[in-house]
Amino acid sequence: MEDYIAVYQKGDVSQCKDKRGTTSTRKLDDSDIITHIQSFPAYQSHYTRKSNPNRKFLNPGLTIRKMYDLYKEKCLTEMTEPKKLKYYNKVFNTKFNLHFKAPHQDTCKTCDSLNFKIRGTDDENVKKEFEVQKELHQRKADSARENLQIDAKKINDAYVLTFDLQKALAFPKLTTSVAYYKRNLYLYNLGIHCFNNNTGYMNVWNEIEGGRGSQDIAVCLVKHLKTHAVTQNHVIMYSDSCTGQNRNIKTTLSLLKLVQDPDTSITTIDHKFLVSGHSYLPNDGEFGIIESASRRHEQIYSPDQWIEIMKTAKRKEPHFVVTEIKNSEFKSTAALEKCITNRKKTTCGYDFNWLNIRWLRFERNHPLQFQFKETLNADMPFYKVDLSKKQQGRPAYLYNIQQGPLYPSGRPVTIAKKKDMLDLLPYIPPIYHKFYKNLTVDIPTRSSILNADERSSDDEITYD
Ligand SMILES: [Zn+2]
Repeated sequence: MEDYIAVYQKGDVSQCKDKRGTTSTRKLDDSDIITHIQSFPAYQSHYTRKSNPNRKFLNPGLTIRKMYDLYKEKCLTEMTEPKKLKYYNKVFNTKFNLHFKAPHQDTCKTCDSLNFKIRGTDDENVKKEFEVQKELHQRKADSARENLQIDAKKINDAYVLTFDLQKALAFPKLTTSVAYYKRNLYLYNLGIHCFNNNTGYMNVWNEIEGGRGSQDIAVCLVKHLKTHAVTQNHVIMYSDSCTGQNRNIKTTLSLLKLVQDPDTSITTIDHKFLVSGHSYLPNDGEFGIIESASRRHEQIYSPDQWIEIMKTAKRKEPHFVVTEIKNSEFKSTAALEKCITNRKKTTCGYDFNWLNIRWLRFERNHPLQFQFKETLNADMPFYKVDLSKKQQGRPAYLYNIQQGPLYPSGRPVTIAKKKDMLDLLPYIPPIYHKFYKNLTVDIPTRSSILNADERSSDDEITYD
């Protein structure tokens, strides 16, 4: 248990000063409450890691009331007198920086920051300037959504889709209170909504099979398009732009490879980006349906059960189509990256920033080039980026390049996580035990310790 606290909540107690002041006449011993609160795993969030590193998040199934009930249960077994809820609450609020929900992925940082500036100034001119900025930003977001509405009607000429990563789905989900003190395993889902047949495709894998990086996402997209869009010439896809998951060289090379593939008819792929926090993708609604269906299941023991929930979540047709992605399907883009020069300049000499890109275009006629705009305006010209190597004799095509596995030695879990899973086996029916018993464990090596920061990000909960 000591180890556990050290990993997750070390330092939390001292970092938050007790705000009660010194007027309190009777001081209760709060050490049992502190120990109890510290026994819950807490996680950093991707969204606040940099801005507020001490802020941590608890399991989304918890509430302060639930924690208090668990505390009372513990006192009962230890034959000690539980303190009142009010006091538990006070310790939680004053001695910890713990929260139940990470900020919504979709809250817009730009709006938040401009609202803050507008409220924070008395100068009418400055206020006006920020209001104009906000107006422009919101118009940009609206116009992006209008673009999606227009493109969604082009289904006779193109394969049109939106995609998004659902928040990580935890398992096992158990009713036993022991589970609240344990880590979870996660199932990932890349939802693809296709406008041509109005269907939600869920591409799922658990954290043992793959991660949530740009290469993982690219594999799902390419698999989907190769399965459902081979006879199409034109693919138009939209996604949120909040993460670096889609706007980078790895995804670009994966899509350039696809567009050259002689086994498909696809000759052009347009990838457009909506403004984060204002996107309202159809995927959000589909994820909501899955989440409410999962609430009807008190216990979820395995990824297969999650898949079953997804398949039956939508009552009306078309039902969701669920595709499992296996470890061996995740391919590295390293071999593709070796064939190109990753230029940061356009052909006209403009130093571009991936994060400003709003529209990417890949064409069969330009096997080692991608085009982009920093706007969704159809009338504006594309910038071009040439990726070809200067040397002669290099392959001019990517489609015949063999890609190696992304996870050649699998995806082990931490020793602590495996231990938590084994501790939960008494609450899980034996037919599911094999999965948990077979989890491979990551034995820390020198290099894994050096890369600890990178690895720990996979252990985080991403709420959206
Ligand atoms: Zn905004």
